[in-house]
Amino acid sequence: MNFRIYNTLTRQKEIFKPLREGEAGIYTCGPTVYHYAHIGNMRSYIAEDGLVRALRFHGFKVKRVMNITDVGHLVSDADTGEDKMEQGARREGKTAWEIAKFYTEAFMKDYKSLNCLMPDVLCPATDYIKEMIELGRALETKGFTYRISDGIYFDTSKLPDYGKLAGKAHVEGIKEGARVEFNAEKRNPADFAVWKFSAPEEKRQMEWDSPWGKGFPGWHMECSAMAMKHLGETIDIHCGGEDHVAVHHTNEIAQSEGATGKTFSNYWMHVRFLIMGDSGKMSKSSGDFLTTSTLPEKGYDPLAYRYYCLLTHYRKQLEFSWEGVEAAARGLDGLRALASKVKEEAGTAPHSLDREAAYYKAFGDALADDVNLPAALAVLWETLKDNAIPAPSRLAFALAAEEVTALDLFRAPAQEELPRDLAALITERETARKNKDWKKSDELRKALSDRGVLIEDTPKGTKWKLARG
Ligand code: AMP
Ligand code: ZN
Repeated sequence: MNFRIYNTLTRQKEIFKPLREGEAGIYTCGPTVYHYAHIGNMRSYIAEDGLVRALRFHGFKVKRVMNITDVGHLVSDADTGEDKMEQGARREGKTAWEIAKFYTEAFMKDYKSLNCLMPDVLCPATDYIKEMIELGRALETKGFTYRISDGIYFDTSKLPDYGKLAGKAHVEGIKEGARVEFNAEKRNPADFAVWKFSAPEEKRQMEWDSPWGKGFPGWHMECSAMAMKHLGETIDIHCGGEDHVAVHHTNEIAQSEGATGKTFSNYWMHVRFLIMGDSGKMSKSSGDFLTTSTLPEKGYDPLAYRYYCLLTHYRKQLEFSWEGVEAAARGLDGLRALASKVKEEAGTAPHSLDREAAYYKAFGDALADDVNLPAALAVLWETLKDNAIPAPSRLAFALAAEEVTALDLFRAPAQEELPRDLAALITERETARKNKDWKKSDELRKALSDRGVLIEDTPKGTKWKLARG
């Protein structure tokens, strides 16, 4: 079975041909840790997690590297404005290092709550300053850089195929746009910073010595340096959100290919944006966005959001709505109930995975078709419902599908909500029990049971369930 990926570079679906047979080296751009990641960012990570899991399902040995941007990402893509980390520090009255630590930890918590697999290498940019300086030196030696008053810049006119990822029209667009925003010292509007100097009047919290003077790396440098360090000068697949095509990934390619003369990444996978219906873009810099922790606050399992994302192919724009999340939450409850039923039916009978079965092949085909998770989920639903397939076989398949979908398929369905007045009766009864008022406690038990709520006292507190029928 050939695994196919839509490659932004060639604008078509291609058969994935890894550099080393049976292996896949993947680099995914990680978060800029000056604020919480929003659920739009999380759509990208969930999609990338889907790619890793789909490749593993097909037997590939995957090595995934993800960076943590903790320096150098400026407010404007034109290499001007404040460093987002220093901005975050000022906003919260903390140091840039504290901000980085706090938001990296917050990110990892959210990331794990969505059942995304930990990358094999997670690398903060500030740990790779030396590698970035070496890359800058290599570019300098080859004549790709020049110095202006605020830093060392990459001369994009020196690379004949500059902008190939976004297309020629894009590079022309930058030239046009130059009239609006232009650093007069730059040789070409698309040129970008390799190293920026600390401004003489400001005392930066994050700065390093370099052969060119004190300062900090240009934002794109970290991904080139770390991807090549951990995955080699040419890598298999590079991922990120669609916003990265035009500037960030275009410039990563320029720096890496300029320095090595080799193709940087053979495949480029980009996730379309999650957008907000009314306000359009979800913007991290404005501070007005939904985070993963908004989900439990609204009573949703974060995995309902994962399921919501998996239901739309990663190359389609996804318009966020709470109705959609609600529908996904119900759908996930249904799928979990189905999986549990299959497990119960299978009992203790031995279950082995039938890799020749049509449903298994259909599931694998969907994944190999540019990670078509919506189609794979449809196969999962159909198979679990199909009583003609022996329950033990369905169970084995569900277990294999769980490795890919990571929806906690066998988790007991979420406990139903109890109306507020009944919940209050339970609390009242717990208080009565604490006070050893057994009479009142029994009365309250009866009152609850009359209204269809059955109580069980356990060492961990009161459990309840609804009497059925
Ligand atoms: P950032 O922390 O802003 O550097 O972004 C982290 C990742 O999220 C990058 O891969 C972005 O391309 C991606 N991203 C940003 N906004 C969205 C969005 N609304 N939908 C999907 N992915 C996004
Ligand atoms: Zn990057």
